[in-house]
Amino acid sequence: MPVASLRALLDEAVEEAVSAALDPGVREALRRASLNALEAIPRAERGAGGLVEELRRRVRRAKEEAAARLDHYIEEAMESLRRVGARPVLVQEPREAVEYVAGLAGRGPVVFSKSMTAEELGLRRGLEERGIEVWETDLGELLVQLSGGKPMHAIAPAVHLTREEAARLVREGLGAPVPEDAAPEEIVAAVRRFLRGKFVHASLGVSGANALAADTGAIVLVENEGNIRLVTGLPPVHVAVAGVEKIVPSIEDAFAVALLEAINAGLYPPTYINVIAGPSSTADIEHHRVRGAHGPRELHVLLVDNGRREAAKTWLRDILRCIRCGRCQWECPVWRVAGNHWGGRVYGGPMGVLWTAVTEGVEKAAALAQLCLGCRACDVVCPMEIPLSRTIRRLKRLAAEAVH
Ligand code: SF4
Repeated sequence: MPVASLRALLDEAVEEAVSAALDPGVREALRRASLNALEAIPRAERGAGGLVEELRRRVRRAKEEAAARLDHYIEEAMESLRRVGARPVLVQEPREAVEYVAGLAGRGPVVFSKSMTAEELGLRRGLEERGIEVWETDLGELLVQLSGGKPMHAIAPAVHLTREEAARLVREGLGAPVPEDAAPEEIVAAVRRFLRGKFVHASLGVSGANALAADTGAIVLVENEGNIRLVTGLPPVHVAVAGVEKIVPSIEDAFAVALLEAINAGLYPPTYINVIAGPSSTADIEHHRVRGAHGPRELHVLLVDNGRREAAKTWLRDILRCIRCGRCQWECPVWRVAGNHWGGRVYGGPMGVLWTAVTEGVEKAAALAQLCLGCRACDVVCPMEIPLSRTIRRLKRLAAEAVH
């Protein structure tokens, strides 16, 4: 690791985290959201009862198995996707993904449902830079888009924005008549009115994937807002973006991931679980199969590598079990004051440091790791038992050895 660049990265990491921590608006919003989340998650766990442990065990086993034989499961998933009429593409790095999706988008509009992997690829910005109209449809993600900032939590991207700030963004960004002291219900209604037409006229819908079953090619997506149903159901073409670590061996495992994520988001049962296995079709006339009935006529699945296959062969493999529930973030004392301003360009907090190591390299992650307090709160709550603090310590050691 070159010492000068490591020092520069460390200075940058400290500066960004400290300036966020000193911003009273960010601190207050993070405080309110953390308090609510830390009450909601145990409540959801109590609601799910004995299922919690069973799901944790099942998902851990499935993810370990998939990470241990990643190339095999990528191959199997691609075959299954082709069998159900989808078009899988394995992309190595962000530019490739942006080019591919831009080629499908036409002039848009393109509607997105929240996807951290799409954020990692810079997909929305890449399309916007090519002059394509793009709208995020998850409320939190739309607020982030309007603010020009970045998502602050894996599940709750606009966690750093107060209600007043949200009202201002919707009023100024969408031209909606929302008063300064609008209730959350008024803000939601204004966004709903604005996005209806975008859903209907979109040329393309882009979603993430909570899990992808290798045995069937089924994509499972969990949500509460109902926007994912519209993004994946109304436009004529659907692109699902999935990091290759989202592949699990079976459709039962994929359901287990969705339920476990809902519990760890403090929202159990989830309002919707969507299963998508291929584009829509009908054979109701003379048993002749027509693709594109009421839903999309094309389904493209971008399987994103971007460092994951290499990580699967190294000491970073454990992070591939991460289901991005963001549980470690709520518990981390550094994240609670700095939000995703600490932990990496895209993913923040404890898991963010490790995802940065996978997707952007160990040097960047080692600089971020220096800010960890070593309290181990993240290890205790991670449902996938990822040794977060131990791996962060290893990154710290690498940086210390490089400097001294
Ligand atoms: S060990 Fe580090 S990363 Fe984990 S919760 Fe504590 S401060 Fe955050």
